[in-house]
Amino acid sequence: MSQDVRLEECSAPALLDVALTTRLRLQVSPWQDGHGGVGYAVHEAGAFPRRPVWETFLFLEEGADSIALHPFPAEDPQTPGHGDSTDLVMTIAAGVQDLAQMLLWEHGKDATWPSCPAHPGGHALRVLSRRMSWSMNNGVPVVGEDSGANWTCPEGDFRTPIGTL
Ligand SMILES: [Zn+2]
Repeated sequence: MSQDVRLEECSAPALLDVALTTRLRLQVSPWQDGHGGVGYAVHEAGAFPRRPVWETFLFLEEGADSIALHPFPAEDPQTPGHGDSTDLVMTIAAGVQDLAQMLLWEHGKDATWPSCPAHPGGHALRVLSRRMSWSMNNGVPVVGEDSGANWTCPEGDFRTPIGTL
């Protein structure tokens, strides 16, 4: 699968969530960077990103305009979960969340995004680690449990797949 198709497929769920639940329109674009290790930038749609950063506080300190993501790792058949679509959906969603919260805050809106339906007014759902197990069968990993790419309540049981807000 080409990197462009991977980018489009794996960014669609989080971009859909932000579009359906806020007035923000975000986008993820490839970023060519000779140094600094930036592979992609999460930014407002229609605005060309110029200053991707790893941490949102740098929006205030350095006038950043986008969140940096690392280049996507290659999928490794011997290491289930590493660099697969679910992994990328989660990585991108975390960047989308960072930018969405920053922009909502800048616009004077509630920056608790996405808000947890189980705890209204409490906290945002988060992209927590994926639970996954597999066993080796004749040198080939066979996946047992895979929690998938979810928005998860940090304090309770609620979770919902990224792309279904
Ligand atoms: Zn909650």
